[in-house]
Amino acid sequence: MKHRIVVLGAGYAGAFAAGNLARRLSPADTEITVVNAEPDFVERMRMHQLAIGQDLAVRKLSDVFAGTGVRLRLARVTSVDPERKTVAVTGEDGDGELAYDTLLYALGSSVAHHGVPGVAEYAFDVAGRSSALRLRERLARLGAGGTVLVVGEGLTGIETATEFAESRPDLSVTLAARGELGAWLSPKARRHLRQAFDRLGITVHEHTNIEAVEPTRAIADRVTGSSIPADVTVWTAGFAVHPIAAASGLEVAETGQIVVDRSMRSVSHPDVYAAGDSVYAIGDNGRPLPMSCGSAGYTNMQATAAIIARLTGGKVPTVGLKYLGNHISLGQRDAIFQMVDGDVRSKSWFLGGKFAARLKSGVLKGAGWGIAHPTFGMPKRQRRLATIPDRASVRAAA
Ligand SMILES: Cc1cc2nc3c(=O)[nH]c(=O)nc-3n(C[C@H](O)[C@H](O)[C@H](O)COP(=O)(O)OP(=O)(O)OC[C@H]3O[C@@H](n4cnc5c(N)ncnc54)[C@H](O)[C@@H]3O)c2cc1C
Repeated sequence: MKHRIVVLGAGYAGAFAAGNLARRLSPADTEITVVNAEPDFVERMRMHQLAIGQDLAVRKLSDVFAGTGVRLRLARVTSVDPERKTVAVTGEDGDGELAYDTLLYALGSSVAHHGVPGVAEYAFDVAGRSSALRLRERLARLGAGGTVLVVGEGLTGIETATEFAESRPDLSVTLAARGELGAWLSPKARRHLRQAFDRLGITVHEHTNIEAVEPTRAIADRVTGSSIPADVTVWTAGFAVHPIAAASGLEVAETGQIVVDRSMRSVSHPDVYAAGDSVYAIGDNGRPLPMSCGSAGYTNMQATAAIIARLTGGKVPTVGLKYLGNHISLGQRDAIFQMVDGDVRSKSWFLGGKFAARLKSGVLKGAGWGIAHPTFGMPKRQRRLATIPDRASVRAAA
């Protein structure tokens, strides 16, 4: 019987990992299945662009994996049973169950509402494709002078506010920041950010904690009743992982992310690996890696390297788990590239302006292209398994 590897999620982490596994392991004794809810690869890093009306390249997962030997199952994962080593799914063809010998969990994340009243009912978000399309449809109906409030001064909030203001100068765009805009950036980068916001005419409310969202405004202080008018409120106040991992009995952190060892293997269930936003991984700087495309890259490379080594009897290599900095687009023509040091403090040097924007555009295109060609550039060394391990022997090798 072949060793069954099931990869949950075909986002930045899962799609690349599945291709890598297929390239490196022999189909004679391994079977790789990817489960994904959507038929296309969703470029989450561009969801704010999709929301404001830009059209994105469509990359069908069936094309992405054509010829790789990877089986694609279009279905929604509803639960994982790590004791029975099964995954429950539901799709167009009804409910089903997949058995695995090795699982790679890479289901990403979605918007975090933080329990704020009205967010689920009235706010929009750019965390996924369906929500971005819902916002796109709403913005298309919003006439000149309409008010858009972006809540959250993190990377997604900044990218969303600037992209919207640049693409729709007829709208009045406001950003509500809990702290100070760009407080974590170096002084020069922060100045650059503020100039960009001024140029694009974005109003910023600093030290403003949105306590509730209503259909046409956001409440900044429920005691005084102070509020910000908003025809459309876009919630970008963070991401949260899907509750599936926690509900399955896998050991998770407070964030719900799967706790892993240095090889991205679950500390509670050695047949399970995690990568991308779903993993609670400590980076080389001793801190949890942030949810980002870069982290998705490093963690999926470490997870796949460990899976391949353990199955083929090799030594598990150590892939760097780095956090070098942030690359924030400010519309299509401007961006900030800010490096950080080992303590995650911004270095004084930063790159801003058109060149940084071109670099960011290259990063986005490169990431999309890499997903569309998941086996490109990797040595095709399809190794046989050392043995076809049963559950007991995989655990023994732990
Ligand atoms: C608007 C926006 C801008 C961003 N900009 C940047 C940026 O500039 N730089 C950066 O580094 N990061 C950025 N990010 C963050 C980055 O997109 C994520 O960190 C990255 O997508 C994580 O990759 P992943 O593979 O873990 O998850 P995802 O890319 O989210 O992939 C998860 C996959 O799992 C599938 N899935 C989820 N649930 C289920 C289920 N129950 N059943 C089946 N399939 C399921 C999804 O359909 C998806 O295909 C941005 C995010 C957003 C939303």
